[in-house]
Amino acid sequence: MKAEDFPVILVAVALPVWETFHYTVPSDLRSKAHVGCRVLVPFGRRKATGYIIGAIPSNEERALKPIFDVLDSEPLFHESMVPFFQWMAGYYMHPLGRLIQAALPGGLNTSVFVTARLTEKGEKALRLLTAPERDLLGWVKDHPGKRVPVPMQDLYPLQKQGLVEVDHRTRKSRTGPLLRRFVRAKEGLRAELLREKDSFSAKNEKEFLEEVLSGTGLSVAALCSRFSNGAYLVKKWTRMGILEPYTATVVRDPAGNILSAEPPPERLYGQQEEVLKTIHEGLNKRAFAACLLHGVTGSGKTEVYYRAIQEAIRLGRQAILLVPEIALVIYMEGLFRSRLGDRVAVYHSGLSEGERYDQWVKTARGEADLVIGARSALFAPVPDPGLIILDEEHDTSYKQEEAPRYQARDAAVVRGKMEKALVLLGSGTPSLQSYQNACQGRYKLLSMPERVERRPLPEVEVVDMKKVPGGKAEEEMISPTLKAALDRVLEEKSQAMLFLNRRGFNRVFLCRSCGLSLRCPNCDLALTYHLRENRLVCHYCAFRREVTPTCPACGREGLKPYGFGTEKLEKALADLYPGLRTARMDRDSVRRKGETFRLLRRFILHEIDVLIGTQMITKGYDFPRVTLVGVLAADFSLGFPDFRAAERTFQVLSQVAGRAGRGEQKGRVIVQTFYPEHYAIAAAKSHDYASFFEQERDLRKQLSYPPFSYLACVRFQGNLEGRTAEVSKELSQEMVRIVEKWPKRGKEIQILGPVEAPLSKLRGKYRWQTFVKSRHSALLHHLLGQVEARGRRVLRGTGVSLAIDVDPYQML
Ligand code: ADP
Ligand code: ZN
Repeated sequence: MKAEDFPVILVAVALPVWETFHYTVPSDLRSKAHVGCRVLVPFGRRKATGYIIGAIPSNEERALKPIFDVLDSEPLFHESMVPFFQWMAGYYMHPLGRLIQAALPGGLNTSVFVTARLTEKGEKALRLLTAPERDLLGWVKDHPGKRVPVPMQDLYPLQKQGLVEVDHRTRKSRTGPLLRRFVRAKEGLRAELLREKDSFSAKNEKEFLEEVLSGTGLSVAALCSRFSNGAYLVKKWTRMGILEPYTATVVRDPAGNILSAEPPPERLYGQQEEVLKTIHEGLNKRAFAACLLHGVTGSGKTEVYYRAIQEAIRLGRQAILLVPEIALVIYMEGLFRSRLGDRVAVYHSGLSEGERYDQWVKTARGEADLVIGARSALFAPVPDPGLIILDEEHDTSYKQEEAPRYQARDAAVVRGKMEKALVLLGSGTPSLQSYQNACQGRYKLLSMPERVERRPLPEVEVVDMKKVPGGKAEEEMISPTLKAALDRVLEEKSQAMLFLNRRGFNRVFLCRSCGLSLRCPNCDLALTYHLRENRLVCHYCAFRREVTPTCPACGREGLKPYGFGTEKLEKALADLYPGLRTARMDRDSVRRKGETFRLLRRFILHEIDVLIGTQMITKGYDFPRVTLVGVLAADFSLGFPDFRAAERTFQVLSQVAGRAGRGEQKGRVIVQTFYPEHYAIAAAKSHDYASFFEQERDLRKQLSYPPFSYLACVRFQGNLEGRTAEVSKELSQEMVRIVEKWPKRGKEIQILGPVEAPLSKLRGKYRWQTFVKSRHSALLHHLLGQVEARGRRVLRGTGVSLAIDVDPYQML
């Protein structure tokens, strides 16, 4: 069904509205109005951008408004994406038009703005009015036809009185295909003809012409960078009728960053063969299936991905490969481009808007067989995805923390179902949720329990920091054991990575005597220190307790706040080892584009001895010369007020450990902790996923946390402290009242809070939150729908905003 066959289209406008709208298409636009194109439509008193999501098979022209314009010459997404967008919008509670806007590459959005001119009546009224109307009218007088800097509702009264004439203008975005100037030789001209001619004035002129004549067209910019007098020569030979200039679109190709380009191995290992057999069978069925590939770090998962992608391409379909970090996108891009050539597209936030637009359009046209990207590549508009892979599926960066707040892993499974694709989730430490899904038969479990060439998994030594005498700052960070290991690395001239979760709360309260962090008796979550109250609070159920130096577990006076970050560590290392080549990789140090890549390359080339980093360095890379991995404070992540704290700690430790000893040399892993007995640390030490899984699953089940329940976080943010608290209480009470009216099912929903968020103030906003928990997803969504609707009413004019986070990961 094509939109042009019908005069009525369905449009999702890029505004915070929940409905979609019908419009008619004027006859001159009909051939352009395809599903997936952006349109400019009248919306109330203004113009808005929207997306065509369907055509209505109806010939009777209803009393509908016509669209103003179609903004794209080709669709930005295929019709098959529409149900997926609709599901995302519904499940993650984000207006459809806004969701599509967020999915599309940035910079595409046409902005609509208001301009005004003074009327004669307005001119006269100017003296009679009082502020602020007079000021506004005065501004319009001075700036006729300019963008009005106030909202439309402020201007509306003046328009109604006939004092101003209002006009809506649109500014089409700058982002579009990149046009460049080229030159080529005129048709029919033979090269010999030119060479006979003796009219070369500049000495590089012959070379210049040979260059132009040998190709089928060269960009003027490229010629100018090769020949200093290029601009002159282009002009001269164009004037002489030999060359002709033309404009053409170019693809801004962000590639060229090939980190390692080893050829594919000739033989696969047995375990790779085996899982690939299942994957190939699944692909050939062309039906939906979800597989969980549990392969320890270094078991050769990347090769499995490659062969699976090859098979999907062989079947005439496309593949999407999601990885958790930009750095990994770049790494994978290099690898796959060296094997698959140019039919690879990439998406990540490090690309410019123009580059992203190009990659997007290339994909939508079906010119890419493989799309590699971070979370947002889930929306890649490949025409027929046969395979969707999520590498390191447990990684929390698959959850987007700003609206639309979606979990790319869960959404990938849904997209796969809709597109009849095979979804392959890979990890050395699968998320509890995915593993539970596999245990219950919803996902097919594929295992690769051995490292390639049976390299042993590195031995993990746990250093009990309680036994390290405190005192010197360096020693609180670097234990004698770790120090000795670093000495070895320097002697052997190998490399080390030091891992520290800097984002850990500085205010973790730990007992230096028994290693215990204080936890809530109801929820088993770490308690968070609130400075103002000077108390420890469970942010989930609001349990509070006093801060005392006496540890409730061991009775000794060992409780104290504890913490340091990567920068401090870097300094300590510089003091300990003058001349040591260190580099730091965290979100602060690699903000600039290309920085990550340069850092990684320097590390691979051994221009750096010790790489210090946050979780960014734990993921998937393959550094054969790394023989030591140190984890500085495993407790930081355990101290998070989050029911997934143990899971994350286990995953991070296992991943970090997997970085060591991937080459010929045996690796060593040293984990420093105050709490070596904790099951997450003990299981990571013995590389025992199964035992961790069982203990964690039982605990979750007991306390009814996900995956044994569905959770949502209703978050309130406002500029005024008291108001935010008040409003959050009001709406939470309303939630309780709604649920009480549901006689039977109401009991199946729990409402916890509101409680001041652990990060009680963020970017100037005060934050409160209420958690909602239920065993039934549909029931939870039913309540959230009502909360959203009432929230809009209750919150109006309060300056407090409401955000609903479905399946939240960020509990802070
Ligand atoms: P994982 O992603 O599971 O941690 P990798 O895919 O990085 O593991 O593989 C680890 C190493 O093993 C890489 O250096 C890779 O080139 C190598 N490798 C994988 N499969 C094979 C194979 N079939 N033959 C030889 N080397 C392989
Ligand atoms: Zn609690």
